[in-house]
Amino acid sequence: MSDVTRTDSAVRFLFSAAAVRGVWVHLDASCRNMFARKSYSAAERILLGESVAAAVLLSRTIKLQGRLALQARGQGLLRLLVAESTQDAGVRGVIELADSIALDSIPPLQQLVGDGYLAVTLLPDAGDSYQGIVPLAGGRLQDCLADYFALSEQLPTALWLAADGERAAGLMLQALPGDAHDAEVWHHLHTLAATLTQAELLGLSCEALLHRLFHQEGVQLFPAEAVQFQCTCSVERSRNALAILGRDELQKLFAEQPEVTMDCHFCGANYRYTADDLGEILGEPPALLH
Ligand SMILES: [Zn+2]
Repeated sequence: MSDVTRTDSAVRFLFSAAAVRGVWVHLDASCRNMFARKSYSAAERILLGESVAAAVLLSRTIKLQGRLALQARGQGLLRLLVAESTQDAGVRGVIELADSIALDSIPPLQQLVGDGYLAVTLLPDAGDSYQGIVPLAGGRLQDCLADYFALSEQLPTALWLAADGERAAGLMLQALPGDAHDAEVWHHLHTLAATLTQAELLGLSCEALLHRLFHQEGVQLFPAEAVQFQCTCSVERSRNALAILGRDELQKLFAEQPEVTMDCHFCGANYRYTADDLGEILGEPPALLH
């Protein structure tokens, strides 16, 4: 079996003798790409890294033409968090903490989010989006997401997330939908996976990690999928966002300021518009010259 690299990939796997599936993810260059866009604190890097790793894990277990996002907003310590993965494992994310937090005292998620919310959002390319609210009593993100699956899908699910400010990694186990799951087998696999250290999760290749945990269990790996930083912003999307304002509001806006700038929080791209762009923003065909 060829060695799956430790750089920016996701691998799905199945247990040969148990109705349980899994996903492993490792993010390196994509984390560096995300962190290079803003000056993040160490705590922000760790929270964002773990969140994006989680978004990739979740996105590998659903059929979706579009994006899966973990989104949090609030007035507490965590003002904003968005961690996204597309069906092609293109990732992007942004985070904003109100205050600096010491690395050894990152509070439980409930305290971070405060009066706000954390949601799993499915954003299909076509059709309506779906949003499920994540219960926050679990403490760490990995435990809250396990609670979310237990409640929303009634699927035993467990996640292990790790980040060190440079890289992020994750492992997810989930009972297969449809089958009556064997509680004893689930408990056995969960117990094995729970022995994983943060250093192992961040440092081992997929094969080495699965061998370390499950060498007696029989695991079937699917081909590795490349994960990369990828922003889905575009001229078209920024125009559409402006078009929502309507002609009257846009005319007022351009009367007040000669140039309207839209900055992408994820990748730092700038989209600039003047009154001359009004027709294109509103999707009107260009005037014919003849
Ligand atoms: Zn962008």
